[in-house]
Amino acid sequence: MDLNAEKLDRVQKAIEKTRERLHSCDLCPKKCYVNRYETPGFCMQRIEPRVSATVLHFGEEPPLVKEGGAGAVFFSGCTMSCVYCQNFSFSQKNTGRDLSFEELSRYLIKIQKEGAVCLDLVTPTPNLYGFLKAYKLALEEDFALPVVFNTSGYEEVSTLELLDGIEDIYLSDIRYTDDEIGRRHSLVPDYWTVTKKAVKEMFRQTGAFREESMRGVIVRHLVLPERIAGTEEMAEFLAFELSSSVPVSLMSQYRPVYRAREFSELSRRITEEEYDYALDVIDRFGLTGWMQHFESKENYRAKPLRWD
Ligand code: SF4
Repeated sequence: MDLNAEKLDRVQKAIEKTRERLHSCDLCPKKCYVNRYETPGFCMQRIEPRVSATVLHFGEEPPLVKEGGAGAVFFSGCTMSCVYCQNFSFSQKNTGRDLSFEELSRYLIKIQKEGAVCLDLVTPTPNLYGFLKAYKLALEEDFALPVVFNTSGYEEVSTLELLDGIEDIYLSDIRYTDDEIGRRHSLVPDYWTVTKKAVKEMFRQTGAFREESMRGVIVRHLVLPERIAGTEEMAEFLAFELSSSVPVSLMSQYRPVYRAREFSELSRRITEEEYDYALDVIDRFGLTGWMQHFESKENYRAKPLRWD
């Protein structure tokens, strides 16, 4: 079986298994057990894909951007509810547009034709079935970009297992290393317990990210005020429970948007000292990767791809 035929076979199997699970949805750790054919669950998504935007994104990590940009698909809905979410309009307010599987497939092809380096699926789990259906159609049209699963990290291992051999790159946040902080700021009771297992599964499938193969795990870590992101514990986890070869993307861009000002510890940007501390931790544990400059004023550069 050639590579494309093998991938098509894996995608078809994942479609069938995902379809079954939509009758009592447990695709993410929220485990709503709703019948998505009749009613949406916490993530507000049903069966067909709902998408806020597709863009060529130049603000992702350098190997995912290069000359052509990352072909980002911003799906509506989310399995978490972060009080400081920059994308709250589509992640929590569900703005976006319902697409047919065929329409989304045409966008994937368009992303490839526009010269994107990769297909960057932003928070795809609530729309996983719709993505897989569209992806299969695109593969039949010789779609060949590496696929990035861009996630909060709050994922169900059994769902990730469906994606073994389908996703090339896991771009996973580690947001906190304390379940109680996840409960307070993201409305999930078990963020760190779940995310540790999920990231280990991502690593089992693909190993550490390597640019030569465009495959593997990258961990993103947004530094939050008052050290509440748990940078030290995150680094310790990577170094001792995963591998220090997993690159870390350290982010300084935190802004108190959406409901963040309701929480005193989140109501300001981080200080230079807080960012320096995070850099020092990364260094101390022998980790490498990419960092944003603390004073960077550069906005993410993105070229919108128009709806047809
Ligand atoms: S994917 Fe959506 S409906 Fe399914 S368990 Fe998660 S939040 Fe609930």
